[in-house]
Amino acid sequence: MDDHLAQSESKATILIVDDMPANLEVMTNHLERQGYRAVVALSGDEGLERAEFVHPDLILLDVMMPGLDGFETCRRLKANPRTRDIPVIFMTALTDTADKLAGFAAGAVDYVTKPLNGAEVLARIDSHVTLYALRRQLAEQNDQLQQEIVARAATQAALERSNAEFEQLAYVASHDMQEPLRMIASYLQLLARRYQGRLDADADEFIGYAVDGAKRMQALINDLLALSRLGTKAKPFAPTDCNRVVQTALSDLVVAIEESGATVNVSKLPTVMGDETQLLQLFRNLLSNAIKFHGEAQPIVQLSAEALDAEWKFSVQDNGIGIASEYFERIFILFQRLHGRSQYPGTGIGLAICKKIVERHGGHFELQSQPGQGSTFSFTLPRT
Ligand code: ADP
Repeated sequence: MDDHLAQSESKATILIVDDMPANLEVMTNHLERQGYRAVVALSGDEGLERAEFVHPDLILLDVMMPGLDGFETCRRLKANPRTRDIPVIFMTALTDTADKLAGFAAGAVDYVTKPLNGAEVLARIDSHVTLYALRRQLAEQNDQLQQEIVARAATQAALERSNAEFEQLAYVASHDMQEPLRMIASYLQLLARRYQGRLDADADEFIGYAVDGAKRMQALINDLLALSRLGTKAKPFAPTDCNRVVQTALSDLVVAIEESGATVNVSKLPTVMGDETQLLQLFRNLLSNAIKFHGEAQPIVQLSAEALDAEWKFSVQDNGIGIASEYFERIFILFQRLHGRSQYPGTGIGLAICKKIVERHGGHFELQSQPGQGSTFSFTLPRT
């Protein structure tokens, strides 16, 4: 900063407006010795012209001049947008306070009295040139910031538009695909039932693959639909009893619980402000994963809520296969899965949905896990 100012100071141009050539010469020599560039004008009119043309860093302006006097010259400089920011210092022989005030009223930043004291004039010029350079620098930075703000707002708006369009597209596409897919799946299942063992072994196998593919496609489309509904079908928040929501989630998962022999313990849960449909999805996805990703042992799942200062912390703890810490962030990204479909079925959409839901409700996720040691997925929701 200092270097920058020193540089701009050393190259600064000072316009001296005075009708006395002798004064001009003394000041010019004095300023040039100090590293300034001096430009002169012998009258107010010439001063106005030069100021516009040269755009000096400061103007030293004599008050008493024939024709346009210093006050009027200053007023005109300040009325012209191209010169109004240039600092003006009056040179006056007048000792009357009213004259000095008139100079300030005309827009001057300072005055020096004649006969001029070289060191004093220089000190004042130095400080106003520095101030002017700083002001210009600030104004430039401000302009840049404004431009950045406008550009960012435009990018944000474009992003929101394209997000909304994508959500609409995903919604319409997955919604419209459901019906034909349902038809394919049910006729394939009909084929499987009716012709099992009546064609050759290859045919049974092929039909099996086709049924399996159609089921996977249905799961994927249902999950995509759920994801796009987060944006298109979001409901306003209302008081929601999490005990009731979790009971519904568990009844949706009854087959998975029975098949895996899982034990699910739920402690008393609070009522929160939220979108019930989304909270149901959240609990169902987390419980479903806690049951699904089990190892040799039968799944034991614990769902609890802890009251912190301003929020509730919900935790879904399991005794399953666990996750290495390097994957903690990745698994919340859409379509990211750590296992093949043959090991654990899934679409890789569930946790991305959970994260979006928790963030929309003003909370965040935390994950504690180690491979082979089970996992605890925790998320916060604001306390009402
Ligand atoms: P999906 O369950 O359909 O695979 P998710 O988005 O729900 O997709 O989860 C992403 C991945 O995170 C899973 O494929 C799995 O590798 C890992 N994961 C999620 N929950 C658990 C859990 N409770 N225990 C171990 N791994 C998990």
